[in-house]
Amino acid sequence: MNKNIAIDGPAGAGKSTIAKRVAKEKQLIYVDTGAMYRAMGIYFSRLGIDPSDAAAIAENVGGADISIDYEDGAQQVILNGENVTGLLRTEEAGNMASKVSSHGPVREKMVELQQKLGREKAVVMDGRDIGTVVLPDALLKIYLTASVEVRAGRRYKELVEKGEACDLEEIKKDIAARDHADMTREISPLRQAEDAVLVDSSDMNIEEVVETIIGLYEEAQL
Ligand code: C5P
Repeated sequence: MNKNIAIDGPAGAGKSTIAKRVAKEKQLIYVDTGAMYRAMGIYFSRLGIDPSDAAAIAENVGGADISIDYEDGAQQVILNGENVTGLLRTEEAGNMASKVSSHGPVREKMVELQQKLGREKAVVMDGRDIGTVVLPDALLKIYLTASVEVRAGRRYKELVEKGEACDLEEIKKDIAARDHADMTREISPLRQAEDAVLVDSSDMNIEEVVETIIGLYEEAQL
């Protein structure tokens, strides 16, 4: 039986935190698809390719070998033999990922890899097009969102805790720009799948969101 959970939503909605917790409690494999697009962004940036140059992206996408592995249960992203996991969580990598992910050849490659993972394992997969494109038959689909203010505030707190210099207004602007790009791109724009359950976490804590999703998952398994 298909046991997969698809979680989509805008940047900073808490998808990865929630998905990791749900995966642990329900013994599923967590797949962070944003990390794969971030690795793709690093690949093109190292080649010095402009992320808006569709022809150069199409020509070079074949040279990116991206795979995932697990170390103590934590997802590792391997780009052409190098573990790039530690380089992925910067705002710059996120913005680059958003740009390169709008290209068809990049998406085709990533979707194929993600669908293979979904067939081989029982997964909680998070991203932007999981319920709509990657795992349209997932047992449970969640669209997790929160207001821009709340999402920016969470990102700000996360960066401050890591000791990184940042500006709340800048983060808010970045998030709004990334939402706009992800929701208006031509191929696989971010949208709520028709059969996805909307969870707005603006006024919920992590525990409440995890409990809500686990409750829905257990119901779906009956
Ligand atoms: O989720 P995360 O912030 O790591 O994703 C980085 C970027 O990768 C997103 O802004 C989005 O443009 C892209 N992405 C995507 N499809 C996914 C996951 C991420 O287009 N399934």
